[in-house]
Amino acid sequence: MPDTPADAPALRPETVAVVAGRPPHSPDAPMNVPVHLTSTYVAGGELGYGRYGNPSWTAFEEVLGALEGGSCVSFASGMAAISAVLDLVAPGGLVVAPRHSYTGTVALLEERAQQGRLRVEFVDISDTSAVVAASVGAAMVWFETPTNPALELADIAAISAAAHEHGALVAVDNTFATPLLQRPLALGADLVVHSATKYLSGHSDVLMGAAIAASEQHAAALVQRRTLAGAIPAPLEAFLALRGMRTLAVRLDRAQANAQELVRRLDGHPALEEVRYPGFGAIVSIVVRGGAAPADALTRGTGLWVHATSLGGVESTFERRRRWPSEQPTIPEGLVRLSVGIEQVDDLWRDLRTALDSLDLLG
Ligand SMILES: *Cc1c(COP(=O)(O)O)cnc(C)c1O
Repeated sequence: MPDTPADAPALRPETVAVVAGRPPHSPDAPMNVPVHLTSTYVAGGELGYGRYGNPSWTAFEEVLGALEGGSCVSFASGMAAISAVLDLVAPGGLVVAPRHSYTGTVALLEERAQQGRLRVEFVDISDTSAVVAASVGAAMVWFETPTNPALELADIAAISAAAHEHGALVAVDNTFATPLLQRPLALGADLVVHSATKYLSGHSDVLMGAAIAASEQHAAALVQRRTLAGAIPAPLEAFLALRGMRTLAVRLDRAQANAQELVRRLDGHPALEEVRYPGFGAIVSIVVRGGAAPADALTRGTGLWVHATSLGGVESTFERRRRWPSEQPTIPEGLVRLSVGIEQVDDLWRDLRTALDSLDLLG
């Protein structure tokens, strides 16, 4: 980051996203840390080998670490980061997690429980007293908020305080909110994970992940997991993810404003049973009346909105989540998760409304 006088006010996150992780302002220095395509380094320095470190990762990690308020360790994908964080739980330890979570996280927890590597208890994460009760004897309380795709909210501060009383670590998947809307470490969590594939990179062209630790000790343990398990990001992906983060604030502003306007217009549409929106962010879940068939018809009936999994890109996408057998049976068949992009909102609304209006409600 550029030199600032000691008494200058701390930079705001929108500025940090633009100015952090750049080379020093010296003559002929490049504006951006280049893509370092190398498998090894000349001996005698700190990096050593391409699996141990890469300056393109470090630039990305400086920015995301500064935004989340901790030490960032980048990984090959969100799942690689989640797997490394779960490796912090000692064998046989209890993990408390939301019933409604990213399907990959639930599958990983269930697999590790079946293998006897840990125990897992699934809870309704919006029921704070149930989460607090479950955290007695837990090694880790893990959650996302808002949850995917039910959009329930968890009380990060209350859960963190209670979990710490019982000696449990708290890890939060902050993919949906991003550090611009929610900073779990400041609310007491120990660890944050991201699928940088989503909002942070923001253009549906990168898979990458990250974990951010409040303590240096946990950060070092995560670096060790990355080095030994080898789930390292590619230098080009780290460059692209950082380039995406430079515009995170403006993308999120626009996408969130679009989402709020669409929620207003969708509310009360006769084809919908429910419009779920947690009040912030750009993910909206709608429940189509009549279940799977009309919801599938909606996903085939648009021109702008693309039926695709994943989220957080500049383009608007949507998905009927129960098309995946792995989605929880408590998620309604007709639930379609919207990832609202940065297009002009009237165009998005016209496309969506035309498809909704033409649903054959009797079919
Ligand atoms: C996509 C996603 C993940 C997994 O990330 P990958 O980059 O696909 O491995 C984890 N958590 C949430 C909330 C996600 O949306």
